[in-house]
Amino acid sequence: MNTKSDRTYGFYNEKMETLSDADRAADQDAELRKIIQHAYKHAPAIRRKLEQSGTKPEDIRTVKDLERLAVTHKHELTALQQQDPPFGGFLGLPLDRVKRICMSPGPIYEPEPIDSDNDRWTQAFFAAGFRKGDLGQVTFSYHLVPPAFWFEDSLHRLGCIATPGGVGNTELQARMMHDLRVTGYIGTPSFLGNIAQKARDLGYDPAKDLSLETGFVTAEMLPESLRDELEKTFGMILRQGYGTADVGCLAFECYQKNGMHLPYNCIVEIVDPETGRQLGPGETGEVVATVFDKVYPMIRFGTGDLSQVTDEPCPCGRTARRMIKLLGRLDQVTKVKGMFVHPGNADAVAAKFPEIAKYQVVVTREGHVDQMTFHVVLKDGVVPTTGLAERIEAAIPESMRVRGRVKFIDGDTFPKEYKKIDDRRKWD
Ligand SMILES: [Zn+2]
Repeated sequence: MNTKSDRTYGFYNEKMETLSDADRAADQDAELRKIIQHAYKHAPAIRRKLEQSGTKPEDIRTVKDLERLAVTHKHELTALQQQDPPFGGFLGLPLDRVKRICMSPGPIYEPEPIDSDNDRWTQAFFAAGFRKGDLGQVTFSYHLVPPAFWFEDSLHRLGCIATPGGVGNTELQARMMHDLRVTGYIGTPSFLGNIAQKARDLGYDPAKDLSLETGFVTAEMLPESLRDELEKTFGMILRQGYGTADVGCLAFECYQKNGMHLPYNCIVEIVDPETGRQLGPGETGEVVATVFDKVYPMIRFGTGDLSQVTDEPCPCGRTARRMIKLLGRLDQVTKVKGMFVHPGNADAVAAKFPEIAKYQVVVTREGHVDQMTFHVVLKDGVVPTTGLAERIEAAIPESMRVRGRVKFIDGDTFPKEYKKIDDRRKWD
């Protein structure tokens, strides 16, 4: 069982995690003024954003002043990058200060600087229980997208050793965990479940023969029932964090698991999607982020996720507000197995098959794993064969980056009014 506790707050800058509200506000306002000045000067997209609202950099003095600016959403970022490739005017440092460029779905290109003081995921890892000397297995993809690199970086900042598991290779990963006595897991909850199964297949008792003590999960929902099951299976502590590929970490759980603390070095607003006004604790709105990263300064980036925050004190001692669970998506975009799926991606699959008359994507949950099923109505005279289903199933991950199944259904049972992506998952 994990003997580590959350008795200390921070890892190097602990006073930042226990600031008074007034001190935090003063610090955030000062950082905001700095990044606005920097971005206005170096990132043409941010300059345009200010100009469009008739705002000068010096008009943004406090977090409240952000209300003057429009919220930028992911699809706008994609469009801006296509108009002004590759970064859409968001690159805030010269290219010789960049060490890596990733490509997230959109596509969106994300630059990472050689030197970064962005330690928001590191705060999350510390809060989850990672400590110097831990071996952490990173099971996110090392291809194209940024998270695996962020998480390795966070392990290194804490003095931990990374074991790069990547995606899949479940048996090899279980063996690696066993042989190296890996103490930490970084990945999705569902993949940790796969590892438990594979470990048993190899004859290991996950709690006795593996050494996992701490896990950090993200990119998927973590229902309490699943957390309990995984914690018991491995005899470990499992905590989660929340963020996006565009802005990084925005919230993380502490030992108390009573919501997710906001990192001190970014600004998270809960915003009324219609007016752009900031909402207070207990009110539901869109999660909108402003980060202080000079290389890629996102100012009022709208995540499309709905949530609310609480300012009630947390027994862990951190004074930052906490995000109380994610309540859904602002638009039709749905997250399946940790990937955003858009109706447009589903259309791209259907467009490859002239046999398809109409379709609907249904997202469900089987056990603790997301399932995506294309309900397909074929054109008159087309015979529903296994071969056709297999060809469509092969095309799904090409456009959607997630596997899915095909179910042929009768035109009569197809709903008259329907959402193209119907999320039927329940999270109780
Ligand atoms: Zn706490």
